[in-house]
Amino acid sequence: MDITVVEVGPRDGLQNEPELVSTENKLRLIEASVAAGLRRIEAVSFVNPKRVPQLADAEAVLAGVPRQAGVSYSGLVFNERGLDRALAAGVDEINVVVVATDTFSQRNQGCSVRQGVERWRRLADSAAAAGLRRTVTIAAAFGCPFEGEVSAATVLELLGQVAESGPDEIALADTIGVGTPDRVRELLTGAAKIAPDVALRCHFHNTRNTGYANALTAIDAGASALDASTGGIGGCPFAPAATGNIATEDLLYALDRMGVRTGVAVSSVLETAAWLGGVLGRPVPGLLGRAGLFPGEPISSATGGA
Ligand code: MG
Repeated sequence: MDITVVEVGPRDGLQNEPELVSTENKLRLIEASVAAGLRRIEAVSFVNPKRVPQLADAEAVLAGVPRQAGVSYSGLVFNERGLDRALAAGVDEINVVVVATDTFSQRNQGCSVRQGVERWRRLADSAAAAGLRRTVTIAAAFGCPFEGEVSAATVLELLGQVAESGPDEIALADTIGVGTPDRVRELLTGAAKIAPDVALRCHFHNTRNTGYANALTAIDAGASALDASTGGIGGCPFAPAATGNIATEDLLYALDRMGVRTGVAVSSVLETAAWLGGVLGRPVPGLLGRAGLFPGEPISSATGGA
């Protein structure tokens, strides 16, 4: 079995970092990810630079990334202005977010869910005309910080609406990290019935320690791609103490041991995670960097008990 791991560290991972990370360090993260074998990188966002200063250097980042066959760079796009910027900067794919609840949609994007769908349709058509690969992400698909529970029926109805524009991929995002595996399976099973020809991707945060269980369930339930961030970086504005996205290296560890092929060298990602912790000035949330790979070097003189 093959799974694509989408590295979202440069975008979702860094988005909430209070200290500005230099363009040079963002490029080092991307270069190291590509060298490790990651082939899809969510590198930038074309959000208004005044709203998210951390991601204001999207053009400079894309101008510096290593361009090689098979490597695809994605940018998050919110509106026509963002799409124009994405095209000028040379992205390979765009990701457009539609939020599953009106309150979160208004707070996050300044529009209703219905208006969000209409905007996705316009962007999808323009991006298709420009030859870009298009992902639409349904955010808050597992729960909303303002409205609480979001029913599977609500998410699947929205999924049917966004599928009408013929996306290359639909992503289900647990934006605030509240999902559980049963809901993952329910949504993916439903999605496959509604949009059988569209690839499915999932985006999990490990906010309540369900992120990896959700990710492994998603593979079993038909997802072809999983988002993860090196080191597990990535804050959540609605859960200030939360850890971030599921960590690329921890996910890869499980996938490798299960015989799921990703084409990514976990040892390389592990090195990048350690470096990234140095850049951010604190240990990253990912656990593999603390525990180490297994099987690894045998411990010569064990001191611990059972
Ligand atoms: Mg996220």
